[in-house]
Amino acid sequence: MTVSAKTNTAQTNTAKTYTGACLCGAVRYSVQGPPVVVAQCHCAECRKISGAGHSTGAMFPLTALSLQGETSTFSYTSGAGNTVTKSFCPGCGCPIMGQNSGMPGHGTLTLGSMENAEDLAVQVVIYCRDRPIWDQADPEAACFETQPGWKPEDGL
Ligand SMILES: [Zn+2]
Ligand SMILES: [Zn+2]
Repeated sequence: MTVSAKTNTAQTNTAKTYTGACLCGAVRYSVQGPPVVVAQCHCAECRKISGAGHSTGAMFPLTALSLQGETSTFSYTSGAGNTVTKSFCPGCGCPIMGQNSGMPGHGTLTLGSMENAEDLAVQVVIYCRDRPIWDQADPEAACFETQPGWKPEDGL
């Protein structure tokens, strides 16, 4: 499937390594760019785990990720019927990564935990139907009412 997405300058910077950490510093990661996609999600679960109107994350192949420190996980079944596993720091509760059984071999790192994500822009906004009135979405990003049917290998 083809969607028109905002140009993400980071997509051309294949050499960049992104780093991040939780609030207390017990969990750290580094991941080799570029991300497969940068997405903002307004689903009920992302609103709960972020404590805000959405989560924003960048998806990478797990082979590009190096994660240090112990994480706790919580799994649930998404609206699309996939198993979603959220990883967070057991000490400070900071959300680190989400994994979706519909995207095997990939993990979506929270941009809030990332230290050098200044060149990443949101390309797609999903579960727009659940966006609260008090939260905003980039009008230039592609918006989907729920979860689009694309796979990482389809690209954007
Ligand atoms: Zn922590
Ligand atoms: Zn979500």
